[in-house]
Amino acid sequence: QAKKNGRKQFCIYHEELEHIAKERMIIQTHLKKALLDNRISVHFQPQYRSNGSIYGAEALVRWFDDELGTVSPARFIPIAEETGLIHSLGDYILELSLSYLKVLKSELNYAGHFSINISAWQFALPNFIKSLEKHLIAHDVEASDVVLELTETAAFFQNITETIDKFHKLKQAGFQIALDDFGTGYSSLSYLKDLPIDILKIDKAFVDEIVDGSESPLTESMISIGSNMELDVIAEGVESSYQVKVLTQMGCHIFQGFYFDKPMPFESFRALLEAQNKKSD
Ligand code: C2E
Ligand code: MG
Ligand code: MG
Ligand code: MG
Repeated sequence: QAKKNGRKQFCIYHEELEHIAKERMIIQTHLKKALLDNRISVHFQPQYRSNGSIYGAEALVRWFDDELGTVSPARFIPIAEETGLIHSLGDYILELSLSYLKVLKSELNYAGHFSINISAWQFALPNFIKSLEKHLIAHDVEASDVVLELTETAAFFQNITETIDKFHKLKQAGFQIALDDFGTGYSSLSYLKDLPIDILKIDKAFVDEIVDGSESPLTESMISIGSNMELDVIAEGVESSYQVKVLTQMGCHIFQGFYFDKPMPFESFRALLEAQNKKSD
């Protein structure tokens, strides 16, 4: 009987694996084509200060496929990473994002933060910084206009001394660095002091803990760490006014989340900035 069950288990397992492999293949093939056909776009999600002014925005990749529909980056980025497509995809996202940044700067005198997510695999390339600089020149923007969002996974992907060295080189080149999804990775607090970062992004998972009637001591501690290190602390995935209130009490003053805005097409973000500029005139 046990043997029989084992065999059944094996079959289910096998079918599942096959299904996963097939899905991966489909996404890989379609993604390759989407890149060639310019079907990949970038949306922007504003980040707000407590006083309502715009602190900055994060560029988030979007892909709509005729057959597959909207595919979430949470689904296709890992596949792009495993298949090596992440490099051409990452270049494409940089090109597109920086061309938008150029428009914002020259037409609206945009001086806010402008964040681009960088995969651990991009960061790990030996020529990563050189290639970033090429993109900057091509789009006539400065490194200091750009925030690179790196996750803890990216930071601890390689040898730690190499990583710390690379962070310093990025800072020397003029980039700002945000540590994304803080609290979810493998980072050890002892390395945090060695990484020259500017911004700490508290992961949504910790913001989610803030619901009426429950305490979230970890969230509060992470915010304290960030403020004590004199970093800008951004709460990600803020969905309610209650969370804004509690986060503010905890010392966090920059927010990003559906409570404020969902990620939006470039034209909408630009209209939002124009409206804000008019208000302050
Ligand atoms: P992330 O960098 O932590 O981005 C934040 C994610 O949270 C985005 O999901 C955003 O749409 C979502 N979000 C923001 N506010 C809320 C909220 O209030 N509620 C909820 N439920 N979600 C919220 P998205 O765009 O689906 O991206 C998921 C992840 O995929 C990103 O997490 C990032 O790791 C990766 N990703 C997205 N765009 C890029 C990209 O251009 N390059 C790379 N390498 N990775 C990207
Ligand atoms: Mg991010
Ligand atoms: Mg994040
Ligand atoms: Mg995340």
